[in-house]
Amino acid sequence: MDTKKRILITGGAGFIGSHLTDNLLERGDEVVVIDDLSTGSLENLQQAFTSPLFTFIEGNIIGNRLLFELVRDVDTVFHLAAAVGVDYILANRVESIERCVEGTRPVFEAAGRFRKRVIFSSTSEVYGESGALPFAENGKLVIGTPQTFRWSYACAKALDEFMALAFHKEQGLDVVIPRLFNTVGPRQSAKYGMVLPRFLKQALNNEPLTVFGDGSQSRCFCYIDDVVRALVDLMHCPGAAGEIVNIGSAEEVTIDELAQRVIIQTNSCADIKNIPLDQARGEGFADMQRRVPDLRKVAKLIGWQPRYRLESIIAILARKLQSQKQDAGAKLRIT
Ligand code: UDP
Repeated sequence: MDTKKRILITGGAGFIGSHLTDNLLERGDEVVVIDDLSTGSLENLQQAFTSPLFTFIEGNIIGNRLLFELVRDVDTVFHLAAAVGVDYILANRVESIERCVEGTRPVFEAAGRFRKRVIFSSTSEVYGESGALPFAENGKLVIGTPQTFRWSYACAKALDEFMALAFHKEQGLDVVIPRLFNTVGPRQSAKYGMVLPRFLKQALNNEPLTVFGDGSQSRCFCYIDDVVRALVDLMHCPGAAGEIVNIGSAEEVTIDELAQRVIIQTNSCADIKNIPLDQARGEGFADMQRRVPDLRKVAKLIGWQPRYRLESIIAILARKLQSQKQDAGAKLRIT
């Protein structure tokens, strides 16, 4: 299991990709990242750039003639490149669909041609408005009307899943499809709308925490180190070929409670401001009331379960942001 590998990561300059990169380099694997830096950043790869085992290629996947060679020359591909965050998707509608659909097919084609394993990161978003909680991999996907634009991401990713399984069935593509639930950790930007980095930033700037709607909706937050551990173990797991696998935490918290916990754990004087959903994210926007993964399959396949609880996740992230703030001067606002 511990032989060194050469790995290609598309979207490796993003939040999840850059942590995966660091982890693989630490294990002694060689890592090639391709990223167009649309939402990822070179800053995320600072640590990676210090390693002789690391190569960075700036570029898009769509129409990239290098892609086949890159896939040919590695052992495994992580395909993480995609649009990120609800706010980004709403602001870049055509592009986010294109990135998912047109950016994925060439990766599957290349991996199929050279018989390489590809780990394609999908998302819990595909479960949509399903009420069959906790969400199991073989459960129904319940996706709303195309007039509610949020669902475009779920549909595009679901289409990618269909494509992955079609390539698997017809051409023997060795593909693994982790569905990532809400993942949090250092380097996750508040820019694209994710709730925990936003709440931490607001609390540390002593600004009101913006709870959308009444805050009764809930999520489960999984720490990046746990998610990366699952991704790496799935990469090494022969039984995962052709499988969809949930990765996430099952510790459920309402968004209102999350806001309160962040305020308490950061000793902030900020209060909570409820903002109606259509004011926060535009007319006709939909939110999921609950999102909880069924983790039995991942436990069975690779014996994985998350190690970090929400309390320690908030503490770790708050400490990191506080020390960044101190480094930059006490008066600085966190952005
Ligand atoms: N949310 C919130 N305030 C914010 C950002 C998000 O109340 O400033 C809510 C959002 O409406 C959703 C939850 O937090 O119910 C998680 O949002 P996020 O965008 O992080 O991820 P999602 O699970 O919706 O993909």
